[in-house]
Amino acid sequence: MKRISIFGATGSIGQSTIDLIKRDQSAYDVVALTGGGNIAQLAQDARDLSADIAVTAYEDRLPELRKALADTDIECAAGQAALVEAAARPADWIMSAIVGAAGLAPGFEALKHGTTLALANKESLVTAGPLLLAEAAKHGARILPVDSEHSAVFQALVGEEISEVERVIITASGGPFRTWTSEQLKGATLAQASAHPSWDMGQRITIDSASMFNKAMELIETKEFFGLNADQIETIVHPGSYIHALVGFRDGALMAHVGAPDMRHAIGYALHWPQRRALPVERLDLAKLGAFHFEAPDEVRFPALRLAREVMEIGGLAGATFNAAKEAALDMFIAGDIGFTDMAVYVEQVLAQMSSDLGVLSDHIRLSDVYEADSEARKRTMALGQS
Ligand code: NAD
Ligand code: MG
Repeated sequence: MKRISIFGATGSIGQSTIDLIKRDQSAYDVVALTGGGNIAQLAQDARDLSADIAVTAYEDRLPELRKALADTDIECAAGQAALVEAAARPADWIMSAIVGAAGLAPGFEALKHGTTLALANKESLVTAGPLLLAEAAKHGARILPVDSEHSAVFQALVGEEISEVERVIITASGGPFRTWTSEQLKGATLAQASAHPSWDMGQRITIDSASMFNKAMELIETKEFFGLNADQIETIVHPGSYIHALVGFRDGALMAHVGAPDMRHAIGYALHWPQRRALPVERLDLAKLGAFHFEAPDEVRFPALRLAREVMEIGGLAGATFNAAKEAALDMFIAGDIGFTDMAVYVEQVLAQMSSDLGVLSDHIRLSDVYEADSEARKRTMALGQS
């Protein structure tokens, strides 16, 4: 039996993972499930999957979790330290699907027992890519990408040498504002930004897709995970999201990964790797689709893409700063304190303010430096909102 844990089990990726697990439950021994405020969901899944332990991120919700699981022998715990402790419990396969930089610490801890970490939490790679990869190498752990574009690249690279890769192109749906003018974008509301045309995801990544911050994060994620140079990585707008990524080799060939926009493909690939098993995803009818449509990305209307290039050039702590400023600006947009286009303005300003501290050589960065840059960037972003 494969021992598995799911961090962020109550979210969109977590629930898709549980959907796959429940279809073949006898093959899995569930160690830990973690969630946030949705205690009912967490308790139900822990019960259904007979987890050893259920952890909520919020300490004040522990009594509620305990009550919901009182008639079982499932352990209950809460808070950041409990999340890390749960990650230290041996498991063969661990899904990292907490949203935001909060996913870094448990993922990092999980690598220490040489597990396979299925990484949906792109923030881990954006904020601390080199540290995470070094930790995995040190303990003989493996990181498998779950972000659909990165899973697609990973699959296109099977049997290939990374040294023969000329370029990687990750696709972007373009989000709900693909055809909006700069003027219209200024007035974009929370409800409009929270409706994605092709993917069904958590609220934060959905808004990041509308602003293209998600694609910006994914460009950085591609650089970190595959060890490519910034100038080898491109994005192309492809509404419909059928092609997830293309890998271009030095002989000019492009290998594309094509499939329905359903995260259960990338999750299932990581779950069964290196095998392929049948997955409950739609099979595409190409004649019905008729055509694939592409457009050049627009870095003027979506400055997050331009900022990602700067972050990739600077390296060091730029990713941690970029992500934290983006998370804080997103909190402010969700709270209704700033406008949609202010998010990129704030992130750019914080990167500029902290520019002299960012270009540290990756070999010299410790996890504590990442957390410091993260908290400084959040503080500065909030200060901009108050000025
Ligand atoms: P979500 O908002 O639906 O779920 C997030 C999960 O994290 C929930 O279980 C929530 O309780 C938990 N959580 C939130 N804040 C937390 C905190 N501070 N500490 C501990 N746990 C916390 O998010 P999602 O859409 O499932 O995305 C999860 C991750 O996967 C993100 O990094 C996202 O970028 C990435 N991802 C998601 C998709 C998708 O289709 N949803 C696709 C690719 C990558
Ligand atoms: Mg993606």
